[in-house]
Amino acid sequence: MSSRYSRMVAIDPAQSTFHTTESSMSKNDWTIEDSSYLYGLKKWGKRYFSINHAGQIEVHPRGPDGNRIDLMALVNELQGRNLQLPLIVRFEDILQDRLEAIHQAFAKAKQRYKYTGEYLGVFPIKCNQQRHVVEEIISCGRKWNLGLEAGSKAELLIALSLLENPRALLVCNGYKDQRYIETTILARQLGRNAVVVIEQIDEVDRIIKASQELGASPSIGIRAKLASRGSGHWKNSIGTSSKFGLSIPDILSTVEKLKSANLLKDLQLLHFHVGSQINDIGILKDALQEAGQIYVAINQLGAPMGYLDVGGGLGIDYDGSQTATPASRNYSLQNYANDVVATIRECCISNNIKMPTLISESGRAIASHYSVLLFNVLGTGSVTPTIPKEKENESIIVSNLRETLALIKEISQDQNIDISRLQEAWNDAIKFKADALNAFRLGYINLHERAVAEQITWACTNALIKVLPQSHQLPDELKTLSSALAETYYANLSVFRSIPDTWAIEQLFPVMPIHRLNEKPKKLGHFADLTCDSDGKIARFIGNGTEKSLLELHELRANENYIIGIFLGGAYQEVMGNLHNLFGSTNAVHIRLNQSGGYTLNHVVKSDTKSDVLKALEHDPELLLERLRLASELAIQKGNLKIKDAQRLIEHIETSLRQSTYLHH
Ligand SMILES: *Cc1c(COP(=O)(O)O)cnc(C)c1O
Repeated sequence: MSSRYSRMVAIDPAQSTFHTTESSMSKNDWTIEDSSYLYGLKKWGKRYFSINHAGQIEVHPRGPDGNRIDLMALVNELQGRNLQLPLIVRFEDILQDRLEAIHQAFAKAKQRYKYTGEYLGVFPIKCNQQRHVVEEIISCGRKWNLGLEAGSKAELLIALSLLENPRALLVCNGYKDQRYIETTILARQLGRNAVVVIEQIDEVDRIIKASQELGASPSIGIRAKLASRGSGHWKNSIGTSSKFGLSIPDILSTVEKLKSANLLKDLQLLHFHVGSQINDIGILKDALQEAGQIYVAINQLGAPMGYLDVGGGLGIDYDGSQTATPASRNYSLQNYANDVVATIRECCISNNIKMPTLISESGRAIASHYSVLLFNVLGTGSVTPTIPKEKENESIIVSNLRETLALIKEISQDQNIDISRLQEAWNDAIKFKADALNAFRLGYINLHERAVAEQITWACTNALIKVLPQSHQLPDELKTLSSALAETYYANLSVFRSIPDTWAIEQLFPVMPIHRLNEKPKKLGHFADLTCDSDGKIARFIGNGTEKSLLELHELRANENYIIGIFLGGAYQEVMGNLHNLFGSTNAVHIRLNQSGGYTLNHVVKSDTKSDVLKALEHDPELLLERLRLASELAIQKGNLKIKDAQRLIEHIETSLRQSTYLHH
């Protein structure tokens, strides 16, 4: 029967990353360095996360030389305080460290290029509007006069109220009605350093009207619609069809209008924003050059100017690859600061104008690192193939499958495994399985025979996975194979609530267990979340070189939690999360290192209860409960429900309403 399998392509074992899952490695052959490499921790986590000798993730919020916190020990302690998983832990010192890094990078760049203007940072509130987060950012950023950027009236209210430092900038973006604009003018009289940025052409008329009515004028900025290319997912934030900003003709007519209303004296700022997560530094350079020239031109038209705001977009290296790909970027923070400073300096010198105060609005780069999302695994599921004994008079389909299985096993015994022969055998297995299904539909085989056919196909899959290298050189059909039999790890989490960008824009975040890292992970699995939605899964992971669909994970142990961390998710995830299947917010805690080497729990934000999420959708939990009480009375009267059981039911529901929306043990 081997004539069908005549194509031979020898695989050089030295060239392929050949590991069998039945590796001979014992627990002791596996080191924490192996884990660090496997999960890419060394690359994406280097400054803040590492693995200690107990095989657990350690957080060093002030960098490798600072104090360390064992994440697993922290989780255990929090659970002792009744703060159950899933849980967000925010390390305030990381936030401080990020702010320091960004300000230092600009200070260094200014010195290097002898830049004579200032640098001022501004945090875009839309990244994370949670009260404690904004308050913490303002207090950490005080020494650099860190400001805020608001993109809506509600965000403006937060910024106006919390940002008391008169030297910190309040950049007012977003769509603006008359009330918004008047508020920014009055804010100046309150002592707030607010700049209203014109994003839409009709806002000019509103600004003129408001200024005339109030007899006072605002500080004015203009957002330019650049022609430079954008990058990655947010590439449409820029260019002529972008939703935001003024085109060049619009900028010129705005300058004219402001001039005739005697407001040109208040035009101080030029703003642009290339989009979030800029992957390629070349894109930023183009935009900077273009914006620099526009800045000069507006200045030459008679506006005082003084501020150039380069927006956000400073990228995060989620996969640690340092490449111009969506989960990474091809530049360092220092490269970024150098390019901003050097490009604008060059432009000012050649046009002989004063160097402006540079503003950047980094959100992702400030807020991503300091938040870690932790969840526990509720259980695992997988297909376990057993091979039923051969019976007399088996259908030809079943015996074909048996032969295929034997062939796969035979090929697997070879010293140099022939991948293309395996592929052919696999194709046969798939074909025979389809035959079985057709035969069943037409009534030629019974349910029992169909079950046998499926079991043998699984056995084929299993036999293949055991010998296939975990290599991206595999043909596509074989690459996806291992997913078929992979373990599903059930996560006590809603992807839609806690990490929505993995679903919405296929963003990659680092995901890994936070303990048992001195133990070889022997399973390959992906995560399924609690929602009844097949999109509710995490099945794309950072690999070394390529993305992978399965993650190396440990076998669950009885009576022991298995805890997974999702890292670098401090920006955008919380507010973009939704109530799909009514899973609400998780618990969140703020941790700060203290003088004595330990840490302090600064804030505890309790998760939504079931009552909370029901109310969010206009249900009245009391009313729902009352209806159930009446229904159980009726059932008691009919003799279908015992009084004792009715009490039990109501008590379950009452307790449940006060608890979080996640699973409890
Ligand atoms: C979203 C946004 C930012 C923040 O972008 P990041 O990529 O998170 O730094 C900054 N400025 C404006 C105008 C934005 O819309």
